[in-house]
Amino acid sequence: MKGLIGCFAQRYIAGTHRAEAIEAARRLNGAGLRATIDNLGENVEDAGEALLTVKEYSSLLDDIKDSGVAATVSLKLTHLGLDISYGVARDNAAEIVKRALDLDNFVWFDMEGSAYTQRTIDIFLDVHGRHPNCGIAIQSCLLRSAGDVALLIKEQAAVRLVKGAYKEPPEISYALKRDVDKNYAALMRELLLKSAMPAIATHDRRLIDEAVRFASGNGIPKGSFEFQMLLGIKRGLQRSLAADGYRVTVYVPYGVNWLPYTLRRLRERKENIFFVLRNILD
Ligand SMILES: Cc1cc2nc3c(=O)[nH]c(=O)nc-3n(C[C@H](O)[C@H](O)[C@H](O)COP(=O)(O)OP(=O)(O)OC[C@H]3O[C@@H](n4cnc5c(N)ncnc54)[C@H](O)[C@@H]3O)c2cc1C
Repeated sequence: MKGLIGCFAQRYIAGTHRAEAIEAARRLNGAGLRATIDNLGENVEDAGEALLTVKEYSSLLDDIKDSGVAATVSLKLTHLGLDISYGVARDNAAEIVKRALDLDNFVWFDMEGSAYTQRTIDIFLDVHGRHPNCGIAIQSCLLRSAGDVALLIKEQAAVRLVKGAYKEPPEISYALKRDVDKNYAALMRELLLKSAMPAIATHDRRLIDEAVRFASGNGIPKGSFEFQMLLGIKRGLQRSLAADGYRVTVYVPYGVNWLPYTLRRLRERKENIFFVLRNILD
């Protein structure tokens, strides 16, 4: 079963080593796309392992600089020890963002399940207050996100707007996909109007078209926001937006801990589940 999912994973993951992620970024750059590189991993429970994550990100930032590829990095706080303690994750994240600052780079904080939302925002704001070269993902599936977006706009922090990849309790989230999408559109308009360089991170053609229409209708220049998509999804759309003069960044994950990320990609599209089931049954 893991072998089959591994086969499926190849579409979404650059490889197991950061050299493969750098190569993927180089190929994307050749097609007019930028990259944000993520070292896969989450829910680390050992402080030594969290420190290895910091070391890996530091080497990744060095390799980005040395190779000259146009790429930022993306990280998860539970990969840096948030399950161990708030302080461990904050200090590790601050070290990576400082290293990125020294190398003239930028760090995106991914958003994990809702058990981590408040702590992720708190750590992000702490680090952002010291080093402004970082941004944070906000999920339109959560009821709280309008308030979070307003706060982040006030703090002049870059926001990556996503729908949300985690199953959330009904008391705190929108149950219906159409409500998640409606909230996405509302938050997207707010960010386009008020935030510096927001990232519209979706493969949803309807929302992308709405972003294009809304930006042009409100005199928002193409260079003042960006689209973000995941490696292996809607490659044609990524390239056509770039060809139309939009900034497009592709999220490039790599590493040996690819299973949780791959399962999230599998779950979010029923055709993917059918693909795996078909191969099991064949
Ligand atoms: C750059 C980036 C960063 C992200 N960071 C986070 C994060 O920090 N936290 C978080 O919770 N989520 C994150 N996500 C994931 C996001 O929350 C969604 O789960 C994911 O993007 C699918 O939603 P969608 O917006 O594409 O819309 P959907 O309505 O789910 O999909 C729209 C269309 O995109 C295509 N598509 C979507 N998913 C897949 C797939 N897996 N395989 C093939 N085609 C697919 C299909 O054609 C689908 O009809 C990120 C997404 C992106 C693009």
